[in-house]
Amino acid sequence: MFLEGKRALVTGSTSGIGLAIARSLAGEGAKVVLNGFGDEAEIAQLCEELGATHSGADLTDVAQIEQMMSEAGSIDILVNNAGMQHVSPVEDFPVAKWDTIIALNLTAAFHTTRLAVPGMKEKGWGRIINTASAHSKVASPFKSAYNSAKHGLDGFTKTIALELAEHGVTANCISPGYVWTPLVENQIPDTMKARGLTREQVINDVLLVKQATKKFVQPEEIGALAVFLCRDEAQNVNGANWSVDGGWTAE
Ligand code: NAD
Repeated sequence: MFLEGKRALVTGSTSGIGLAIARSLAGEGAKVVLNGFGDEAEIAQLCEELGATHSGADLTDVAQIEQMMSEAGSIDILVNNAGMQHVSPVEDFPVAKWDTIIALNLTAAFHTTRLAVPGMKEKGWGRIINTASAHSKVASPFKSAYNSAKHGLDGFTKTIALELAEHGVTANCISPGYVWTPLVENQIPDTMKARGLTREQVINDVLLVKQATKKFVQPEEIGALAVFLCRDEAQNVNGANWSVDGGWTAE
């Protein structure tokens, strides 16, 4: 329970990867603030299970981020994980979707970070972990907003890693390949449309085609890596972008 006494905020943690990270951090004794949307009763149950609190802030809205950060208090471990996807040819890409994806997948991390950093500097300890993606390193067609946001998140992470290095604060990206979560499941119909494929073809010939293991990553594997990044042994892991993609980006 090496995280006892530490306070962690995990954005987008009512589902998928964020929830797995929140579970792993809570499992090591961290006091967790969950964030994200979902069924009220299910979220209340999660809070009870993890001894966590919850903020329903919409992270595309700066005022709501500011309110969440002020209510959360001093955060030791900030996990910027909330994200969404949209699949469409660039010429048809809905303008509002582009703006929302950049706001949620990139700009929200800037706001939470700028608000969390003064407390981390004061304590001389902090961990910033950003869920990027294999799409922060390589691109796939029809994901212009997502790829742009994730490449930007990698650049942002490197920048703050350098700025905070002498303050006991590290900043790193975790970059999963395909993890079976609602985010992946929900993009299958649009990918079928954009590429003229069946559901099975999308899963085998698009999603898993570059994942050399031919297996989806499990959310718990991302949680375990997040825990490692919080350890003292990881104090010199800084500004890195960790692939957990079954070998996809090794090619
Ligand atoms: P998910 O859809 O299961 O979870 C997304 C979470 O974000 C949910 O808790 C949701 O309520 C929350 N959320 C959505 N919009 C929000 C908003 N406006 N404000 C606050 N919270 C909001 O997705 P996931 O697959 O677990 O993805 C989590 C992160 O991992 C994302 O950043 C995603 O890009 C990244 N990622 C996922 C995969 C994958 O294959 N699933 C691969 C690489 C990277």
